[in-house]
Amino acid sequence: MSLIIRNISKNFNGLQVLKDISFSVNTGEIISILGPSGCGKSTLLQLVAGLQLPSSGEIILHNELLSSSKFLMPPERRPINMVFQDYALWPHMTIEQNIVYGLKLKQVKKHIIEEKKHKLFELLSLRGLENRFPVQLSGGQQQRVAIARALATEPKLLLMDEPLSNLDMQLRYEMRNELSYLLRQLGTTVLHVTHDPLEAYALADRILILRDGSIEQLGTPKQVCEQPASLWVAGLLGMTN
Ligand code: ADP
Ligand code: MG
Repeated sequence: MSLIIRNISKNFNGLQVLKDISFSVNTGEIISILGPSGCGKSTLLQLVAGLQLPSSGEIILHNELLSSSKFLMPPERRPINMVFQDYALWPHMTIEQNIVYGLKLKQVKKHIIEEKKHKLFELLSLRGLENRFPVQLSGGQQQRVAIARALATEPKLLLMDEPLSNLDMQLRYEMRNELSYLLRQLGTTVLHVTHDPLEAYALADRILILRDGSIEQLGTPKQVCEQPASLWVAGLLGMTN
């Protein structure tokens, strides 16, 4: 078991946003957290990233405690990287600098950086863009850079918060298939957040459906599709009306 979320709750000024959430992610598994806006998806991801302290419960990665209500391993010490909806690239750095920055911080040897750079540019179809700046790229290209940057330091866990929702429909369609292929090829363990059922189907080994801060259903895409736990889930998946 790679990541264990145990009885996690989170309150903001008396409002309970997450209510006793428990589940675990296997090594190499991709879990999509699916739910409507405001149900607590980003909060859950931020708790795993270490950007928020849980009100109760524990988060454990490879037998190491990351968070409890009394303990917070700082985000930069966690073997975790995150891809955000708005890409969050460093605007003053070239694409190449954006991608290798984390490796340089870790003082990875020069020839290894070169090797990784080559592989990532290849995998994410970024060749030729090395010396451009983020503003000179399309949304899809910027998102590929953000993913390359997150993968460069080989995190034990990759977090993605609505990674494709700023892209237009055609690009979103292409990218979700590309991303699915890439993540499987690399065997990365992923916790992915989306409000788009199609994105969850394309990417996930299992889908965790979140409703008002509680788990409504957790199952494979086939299971949630064929046996939605409630009428509410069927509605969310677009199976009613
Ligand atoms: P989602 O990502 O599913 O749209 P969020 O996790 O962003 O949902 O938010 C869940 C709920 O928690 C919302 O009602 C939101 O207003 C509230 N919330 C999120 N972050 C904070 C915060 N830092 N302070 C107060 N309330 C917050
Ligand atoms: Mg969100």
